[in-house]
Amino acid sequence: MSELIDLRSDTVTRPGPGMRAAMAAAEVGDDVLGQDPTAQRLQELAAERFGFEAALFFVSGTQSNLAALMTHCQRGDEYLVGQEAHSYRYEQGGAAVLGSIQPQPLNNQPDGTLALTDLAAAIKPDDAHFCRTRLLTLENTIHGKVLPASYVAEALVFARAHGLATHLDGARLLNAMTARGCGEREIASGFDTVSLCLSKGLGAPAGTLLLGSKPLIAQARRWRKALGGGLRQVGVLAAAGLYALEHHVGRLAEDHENARQLGEGLRALGLEVEPVQTNMVFVRIPPSRVAALAASLKQQGVQALIGERSRLVTHLDFKAEQIAPVIEGFRRGLAA
Ligand SMILES: *Cc1c(COP(=O)(O)O)cnc(C)c1O
Repeated sequence: MSELIDLRSDTVTRPGPGMRAAMAAAEVGDDVLGQDPTAQRLQELAAERFGFEAALFFVSGTQSNLAALMTHCQRGDEYLVGQEAHSYRYEQGGAAVLGSIQPQPLNNQPDGTLALTDLAAAIKPDDAHFCRTRLLTLENTIHGKVLPASYVAEALVFARAHGLATHLDGARLLNAMTARGCGEREIASGFDTVSLCLSKGLGAPAGTLLLGSKPLIAQARRWRKALGGGLRQVGVLAAAGLYALEHHVGRLAEDHENARQLGEGLRALGLEVEPVQTNMVFVRIPPSRVAALAASLKQQGVQALIGERSRLVTHLDFKAEQIAPVIEGFRRGLAA
C-alpha cells in the first residue's frame, strides 16, 4: 500500500502492531454486567491518573458528552456552551434532541474562551418563564487552541459562585496538557466531569473516557445504557486505550512540533497561517486557488480538507519526513 499523507484529522490513525497485540491479548468479560477486567483496569487507571474518583469507557466522544450533559441537566434545564463547541455544533444537537436540554450558545472569543460577562448575562433568573441554567461546558483544546490556565481557573470559580456544574469536553485534553507542559491532574482539575478521547491524538481505534465523581459516573453509566452504549467484551477496545495512555501521550509533543514546522513552511510560501499551538494548522488559501490546490494535493497523494480556511492536523501516522513533501505539494498546487 502506498503511503498516503493524510492531514484530514488525528482520527485517521490506524492501530499499529503493539496496540493490536494488546487488543488480541486482552482479558475480557461482559462489561454490561461489570465483568470486563480490562475495561475496569483502564477506568481505574484513568481515574487515578487524572485525579478523579471514577471513570467510564464510552465508544465515542459524542456519546460521552451527551451522557455527561444528561447527568448534569434534567429535562428543561439549560447548559452554557460555545457556538464553536463540538457538543453544540458538531453533535447534531443531541443535548436538545435526545436529552431535552436547552443549549444556550455564546460566542467564543478568539482564544476559544467564553467571556465571563457573557456567561453572567446568560444565566437565567429563577422564574417560571425560563429554563434553569445548570451547567457550564468548556472545550480544551478548542480548534487546536489551548484555553489559558488563568481563564479556566476563573471560569471554574465563576461557575461555583453561580451554582453551575462544570463539564470539560477534553477530547484533545492531552494536547492541551502537552502544550502547557503540566500534568494530567492539573489540566483536568476543578471540573465535575471531563470527557477525553482515546481515538484522536492518542491513536486508539475507538473510545472516550468520562471522568467524574462516583455518583456522577454511576448516573452516566445508566444513561450510557439508555444511549445504546452498554458493550459486552469491550476489553478489546479498552486494551487499545490502555496501550495509548501508556505509549502515545509522551509523543504528542512530536505532533505539535511537526505542526509548527508545517505552519512555518506554509508561511514561507507566503500563506497566512494562524499561530500553531498544538497539532492543528489553520491556513488561509486565496479563494481563487482553493479548487486547483485541492485537486493538485489529491493528485500528489496528500489528503487534506482544503478550503479558504484549511485545517491540517498532525498525528501518530504523520511523520516528520512528510512535512517537506506536503509543503512542496502546496507550492506546486498553488502554482498550478
Ligand atoms: C471528536 C470530538 C468529539 C466527539 O468525539 P467522537 O468520538 O467523534 O464522537 C467531541 N468533542 C471534540 C472537541 C472532538 O474533537
